[in-house]
Amino acid sequence: MQLNKYKSQNVAVFGLGKTGLSVINALISSGARIYAWDDNEGQIANAKTICKECNFIHPKKYNWHEIGTLILSPGVPISYPMPHWIVKLARSFDCKIKSDIELFLEAKTASQKVIGVTGTNGKSTTTSLIGYILKSAGRKVAIGGNLGLPVLDLNRDAEIYVIEFSSFQLELMNEINVDISVLLNIAPDHIDRHGNIENYIAVKSRLVEGSKVAVIGCDNEFTAEIFDKFTGNKIPVLASILPFLSFQSSNTGIQLGHVSDMKINLVSNAENIAAAYAVCKLLKIDSNIIIDGIKSFPGLKHRNEPLGKIENVLFVNDSKATNAKSSEKAILSYKNIYWIVGGKSKEGGIELLSKHFTRIRKAFLIGESTEAFANTMENKVDYMKCCNLENALKLAFREAINNKEKITILLSPACASFDQWKSFEERGEAFCKMFENLRNAFTITCAV
Ligand code: ADP
Repeated sequence: MQLNKYKSQNVAVFGLGKTGLSVINALISSGARIYAWDDNEGQIANAKTICKECNFIHPKKYNWHEIGTLILSPGVPISYPMPHWIVKLARSFDCKIKSDIELFLEAKTASQKVIGVTGTNGKSTTTSLIGYILKSAGRKVAIGGNLGLPVLDLNRDAEIYVIEFSSFQLELMNEINVDISVLLNIAPDHIDRHGNIENYIAVKSRLVEGSKVAVIGCDNEFTAEIFDKFTGNKIPVLASILPFLSFQSSNTGIQLGHVSDMKINLVSNAENIAAAYAVCKLLKIDSNIIIDGIKSFPGLKHRNEPLGKIENVLFVNDSKATNAKSSEKAILSYKNIYWIVGGKSKEGGIELLSKHFTRIRKAFLIGESTEAFANTMENKVDYMKCCNLENALKLAFREAINNKEKITILLSPACASFDQWKSFEERGEAFCKMFENLRNAFTITCAV
């Protein structure tokens, strides 16, 4: 993206992860002067090797009167638990604070359409699915944001941008202006960063308020309320599971659609499919193309992803389930579950899943949340403390293989991964590898 508005301007960039680096790249090629910094020395050292033209100077030494804008990375808190020191410093000089997505929205042309997707769960899948269908319809589309590439690294010639917005990114934005917003659902998540659920809801609602048309999931109490209050153009999506999937829409002229035989799990994705369908209809894509796209969409890794079977045992990797509400979908997808659960727990733990404990044959507890989850499960479901993923998988498999019934070993942690892993991807990849090793070992043993 060409950011002509910033040509010859002094711009501060704080946060030098992949978003910060994409900002620097776009600003430098647009002729801006950059002052870059990060709390982490390693990030600064890395940025120095990539970007020779930047001034790497501590912000306390800037002449702030000459700096028009500060671009902040979404990891940097602007309000809760308290504004980061850079935010306080910039505000004390009345310096405007912006995010990379605002730079992108300022720079794109009026004919380039933007679809913004947010919600607690399903953002990445819905963003990818919309992109996939639009591509199959021959549209020139780019997807990114919180998922994949930062927006300023996206192809500048796209006709339609499908952008995933996290709550951190939305919180940073002063102005939002997108063509279509999608708000899927809201459940308590990232409360440590937003203070309370009300603030989190307010941040998520901002995307709806900043859109020309809003597609809103109405199966969820919080988003249904946002739908009721919103006075702009809006489309409710209600995903109900029938022998096929049907989408309800009110007086918007969007037809009901029917889809069956899809590759992705219907329980987890009904809402995502319904929202993607509504968006594509708004963009005037032919219904048959939408339905073919939904059917052939392969889904994303680590999201309720079946890995394969060993005898009577199915293995499912749902490492991306980082809160209880996302694990609920995976639990409702299977029977006779050996559930590997735990990690860095979110507020409320797994209390809301108690009503589904009858579906769980046994839980295999891992990570920091072990004691808390054992308390929730006491006298309700059989559990075993396993400490880590490797033990949990071995112990679960040993019991499952001796069982005559069909069993699903489900990794759906309902927790963030940071107590034992770098990311949900690393946790999921480890699980996939353990499964492959087990399958190889089992095949060899059986062959001997
Ligand atoms: P996000 O980007 O919002 O984290 P993902 O598409 O990566 O969403 O999915 C995250 C987790 O939530 C996965 O465990 C997935 O199976 C589950 N999930 C996906 N869509 C939904 C939905 N609409 N409601 C609840 N859980 C969902």
